[in-house]
Amino acid sequence: MVSDQTIILILVHPGVVTAESKARIAEAAFNGGPLGELVQWSDLISTLHILGHHVYLTASLPDLRHYFGVDTGGCPHFHSNPNLIYTDIIGLRQIKSVLKGPWFKYRCIIRVLDTFGTEPDFNHISWANKHKLASPFGGLNMIPLQFYTMFPHTPDNTFLGFVVQNQLMSEQSELFKSNKRQNQALVYGKRAEFWEGKTAYLDVIHKYLEIHGTVNNRNALPNYVKNHGIVKGTDVQALLRQSKVFVGLSFPYEGPAPLEALANGCAFLNPKLNPPQSSLNTKFFKGKPNIREIISQHPYAEAIGEPYVWTVDMNNLTEVEGALNAILNQTIEPYLPYEFSCEGMLQRVNVLIEKQDLCSSAASWPPLSALQVVKAQMSCKTACQKAGLICEPAFFPHLNNANTLAKNSVDCQTSEFSANGLVFPAYNSTQHCWFQSDPLLFSCVRSDESLTRVCPCRDFIKDQIALCKDCI
Ligand code: UDP
Repeated sequence: MVSDQTIILILVHPGVVTAESKARIAEAAFNGGPLGELVQWSDLISTLHILGHHVYLTASLPDLRHYFGVDTGGCPHFHSNPNLIYTDIIGLRQIKSVLKGPWFKYRCIIRVLDTFGTEPDFNHISWANKHKLASPFGGLNMIPLQFYTMFPHTPDNTFLGFVVQNQLMSEQSELFKSNKRQNQALVYGKRAEFWEGKTAYLDVIHKYLEIHGTVNNRNALPNYVKNHGIVKGTDVQALLRQSKVFVGLSFPYEGPAPLEALANGCAFLNPKLNPPQSSLNTKFFKGKPNIREIISQHPYAEAIGEPYVWTVDMNNLTEVEGALNAILNQTIEPYLPYEFSCEGMLQRVNVLIEKQDLCSSAASWPPLSALQVVKAQMSCKTACQKAGLICEPAFFPHLNNANTLAKNSVDCQTSEFSANGLVFPAYNSTQHCWFQSDPLLFSCVRSDESLTRVCPCRDFIKDQIALCKDCI
């Protein structure tokens, strides 16, 4: 828990749950609708409360007006300005519409929950318009680190994450011991349409295991499926504790459920996506402000790998059967990456609240001691990753001058500042250097074959990628 001096006032405005957003996400929650965002909001609110902050929640436009005193002639309800505001893209638009021009004074204290992330070129309104990247959720012109994602996607954004219910928590562990694992698979797919066209794949699994589902409508399911309907989170976990495999159907992408499966002792069968899916070729991602490609249903789980996660081509039934045999011939313990545990989430959010300062231009966190410069003809995301590090956009301004480059063995013969690219600072074969003149265009994820990028990388705590070793 934070000390008294650092208890702050936090406004939480989840736009997606307001009736005005028409997203109807709360209503759909009981009928197979998306739950990932709600999981993240409830984990965030719980975390802020446990850390001891004063949390004020607004869940409608009248609430928001009331909070800011817009309905009481400018007298704020709370008699004090928030130190931090958590919202989402819909909520940010609502804040702007309620406050009008003066919203700007809150600009740098806003954090925008953004499940799949916003890449800098999509965020920058004039760049996006000029390069035909305008999208319904882009063009917000925030600092890219203000977007808080569900998984560590682009390092240009901040990884917020969520908490995975862990059966090793004391009151759960007895229950776990009394539950014997059956010859059972649980299928990952709450809506009947996710199951369409997957019968041959499921038939192979059914040769070995009884198949269970938590599906909103059983009509389209193979006869052998034992369907429980949409159930409570704790019931999903109980089913996972009785099962040996959690079976992906290739959709939904990048949800919390596969991590819950691993944490409850199942292996996860993770379908490959071929061709890779992104907003350029996939309806689900269309309009999302990034072009990140995913090559399986759950890239984060894919990186965890065997023996926990088996990434397979669903159409190659021999491969599916091979993976299944391997899973049934192994014993695994429950697995939970630290960053998705309660403690990991509390640590991460606490450090972000105390140290991530997006209001001052001379930010001192992460500390420069964590900086490791890597030069490469590829994106900084990849270059840092290859060096066992992560790209840290907060360090871009520090690298963006000839003096710092010289200290890192780049002798710029000539140089210029430009806002015509997404890969600066960088240099070409004649040692001509380009520096970024628009800080909103610093980006970890883009590359230019003709240029060598100078990348700001940093280390990270194992299984806590948001934080460097000197960050806490
Ligand atoms: N879940 C649930 N009832 C069900 C099926 C799933 O409460 O019948 C929970 C599951 O335990 C997880 C959450 O729904 O915590 C989100 O699941 P998913 O990975 O499917 O993500 P989504 O696509 O809903 O965002």
